Amino acid sequence: MKAFAYIRSNSVDDALSSIAQHANAKYLGGGTNLVDLMKTGVEKPSALVDVSRLPLATIEARGDGVNIGAMASNSAVASHPLILERYPVLAQALLAGASAQIRNMATVGGNLLQRTRCFYFYDPSYAECNKRVPGSGCAAMSGYNRIHSIVGGSDHCIAVHPSDMAVALTALDAAVVVGNKRRERIIPFRDFYRLPGDTPNIETDLAPDDMIMSVALPAPISRHSTYLKIRDRNSFAFALVSVAAILDLDVDKRIRDARIAIGGIAPKPWRVPSAEQALTGQLPTEAAFARAAEILLEGAKPLRYNGFKVELTRRAVMRALSTASAS
Ligand code: SF4
Repeated sequence: MKAFAYIRSNSVDDALSSIAQHANAKYLGGGTNLVDLMKTGVEKPSALVDVSRLPLATIEARGDGVNIGAMASNSAVASHPLILERYPVLAQALLAGASAQIRNMATVGGNLLQRTRCFYFYDPSYAECNKRVPGSGCAAMSGYNRIHSIVGGSDHCIAVHPSDMAVALTALDAAVVVGNKRRERIIPFRDFYRLPGDTPNIETDLAPDDMIMSVALPAPISRHSTYLKIRDRNSFAFALVSVAAILDLDVDKRIRDARIAIGGIAPKPWRVPSAEQALTGQLPTEAAFARAAEILLEGAKPLRYNGFKVELTRRAVMRALSTASAS
């Protein structure tokens, strides 16, 4: 492991100053992903700015919404009464996301910034990886691309985003509150993650000296929701396909509003507004769900080894919508 400086922050101001003073410094929260990547030489920060003791772990109501501090642990969020009452889909996604031990350590901010689990990204013995070494190529393109994207990828990178929590937050129309020494701003989830294009090493809209302060959840639209995760084994595995589905039903059981976010198939949690709009005014039937799934998958480009994800996604979307409508 490359040597690095360790800086413990005593305040948010301290942390923002430290990150601004060290080129290529990283924030350290729970360290559940970053430390692994440092051990293998994928991440080589010059300094770690430890933000784990900052008072940013509060989970509190803001009107009909909820604000979650960036240092709140994934366990604390998943078990918080406000989350269970207003956003059960978020609690389900967190519980599906990792083991209890990881959830206890992992923070909300760290969860959002975890890196892809592309095999070739994780293993520096592969020379080709545009995300790890910009301009080097993409070993997955002609390699074993079973876990890779079917939508949203580019000729430069086809990696998928690994976070379950981010999928639920995308469906919930959450926003990320970020700050640096100059300003604080709120980034809607739909703009937070970038598609790879020709710069897959740049994954979010964050500036180098930005810190995630909190996640802001708007008032929930409905409790008719579910998080469905399909994976190779039932624990300690990332999603092949996951679906966060939320349906707002009127008194006649017609769909007033629908939210569908998909994980495991794209470089960012994937939403297709036209698929959601196609459900508006419909009864929650298999035919309506099939039509939404069809729209969601328009333009999918499966690779040599991941063609199964198209049909798996279609079925997962239909099942998740059916479960949400009956919940
Ligand atoms: Fe690297 Fe992306 Fe290609 Fe994986 S898919 S090898 S992360 S460039």
